[in-house]
Amino acid sequence: MHAWRVQGQPGPIEDEPLEWVEAPIPQPGPGEALIHVLACGVCRTDLHVSEGDLPAHLRHVTPGHEIVGEIVALGGTSANGRDGRNGHRAIPDDAVDARNLRLPGSGHHSSGNSYNAFGDPDTKNQFRIGERVGVAWLRHTCGHCEFCRAGKENLCPNSQYTGWDANGGYAQYTVAPVDYLYSVEGLLPPSGSRSSRRHSNATVFGPRYTVETVAPLLCAGIIGYRALRRTGLLDGVSAHEITARSTTLSVPSLPKSIDVPQLRRGSATSPASVHGRHGGSANRLAGNRLTSGGDSFGGDSFSGDFSSPTQISTSPAAQHIAARLGHTPVLGLYGFGGSAHITAQVALALGMRVHVLTRGQEARDLALELGCASAAGAYDMPPEPLDAAIIFAPVGDIVLPALEALRPGGVLSLAGIHMSDIPPLNYERHVFHEKEIRSVESNTRDDGREFLAFAAAHFIAIDAHPYPLDQAQRALQDLKAGRFAGAAVLVNR
Ligand SMILES: [Zn+2]
Ligand SMILES: [Zn+2]
Repeated sequence: MHAWRVQGQPGPIEDEPLEWVEAPIPQPGPGEALIHVLACGVCRTDLHVSEGDLPAHLRHVTPGHEIVGEIVALGGTSANGRDGRNGHRAIPDDAVDARNLRLPGSGHHSSGNSYNAFGDPDTKNQFRIGERVGVAWLRHTCGHCEFCRAGKENLCPNSQYTGWDANGGYAQYTVAPVDYLYSVEGLLPPSGSRSSRRHSNATVFGPRYTVETVAPLLCAGIIGYRALRRTGLLDGVSAHEITARSTTLSVPSLPKSIDVPQLRRGSATSPASVHGRHGGSANRLAGNRLTSGGDSFGGDSFSGDFSSPTQISTSPAAQHIAARLGHTPVLGLYGFGGSAHITAQVALALGMRVHVLTRGQEARDLALELGCASAAGAYDMPPEPLDAAIIFAPVGDIVLPALEALRPGGVLSLAGIHMSDIPPLNYERHVFHEKEIRSVESNTRDDGREFLAFAAAHFIAIDAHPYPLDQAQRALQDLKAGRFAGAAVLVNR
């Protein structure tokens, strides 16, 4: 197979630290799946791995941790026929592929079997050959340290990560532990159907995602969701409330007498991007049609001033949050790329008013298209005080204006795994009034499942920029240079 890997030394992406090599197809060990990569998102963390901002964990690692792929084999037994973890026989000897991939010890064709890695039918992670799954950043935790036992596996000191500690998805095939896979079948059209191609709206099947638009959900989406949870705005809101479908509309100067149900158009799939002044123009996003059940959202174009919209939402989560705060929650997003443009739509669907502060006119345009209330420069002040803010840009300088923009008691959440130094803070201007800074480290699998369930219930428009797999280095260069808003996705054709 072909794969990208970091050459001897990481370095500036302009100097091409990655090389495109011919490599053997990896073999899944016990508890692992071999996955044929269909698409892999390009995340800023891949840039940090390639450039050496993150210390090398695996020499010549293949980056990539937003993988959508199809299981072609499940790991065989270890030499003694046991999986080494619970003593059960792990995988039948005839565990094989769906693509005539010959693996050691696999003589028969038996696609369609369903079993988990440890032969335990009660475990929730059951995957079958041919199933499409997502591979994300977190790929191992120890399960017995104080953090794992406390439900904070993202802080496990023994954790391992895809595309850093182990080879990732910038390749035609990858191997991943079954217990850390996410099922994405519920987000995608039936396998092999014509509607799995981009730009097709021939089949209506729930949220209209493609492998290209699901990929960014797996890190940009999940981490952004955790960063949003870390702001505290969702405290006390249950996973059930979060995933309940909503019909939030942002309407300027709404007459008090208006009958809310009249606004509930197309609530069956409620695109999260229906809000705001340019609801219809979001149609351009990745070929996703913002239509459902015959309703077109193109006509819902509200033009109004940010300061006066009335939020109407039947979302239980939105009602819960607004009731606790006593007002419409106001969120600031600093930086507006792959993660932020997803997080913005989650926040909007949860009834929040979102202000975006970022460099780049294209990113600001995208923010307004998605329904954000305002978009300005990264160091500008938002037009109103923020209940919370998230910094996605890896730029420590931005911490200062973001803290200054918070209301008393506000929380600043730092979403990146890497950030340049934060300048000295002024206590009165930046910290007093009980303002808080919280960092975000990875995510738990529960975060991932909760977010993907949200994405299944609320259509999230993904601004995906596809690149052929063999153009990964160019995609990373374009990401660093800010040549696109949204998310780059490698496609393995
Ligand atoms: Zn642990
Ligand atoms: Zn990532």
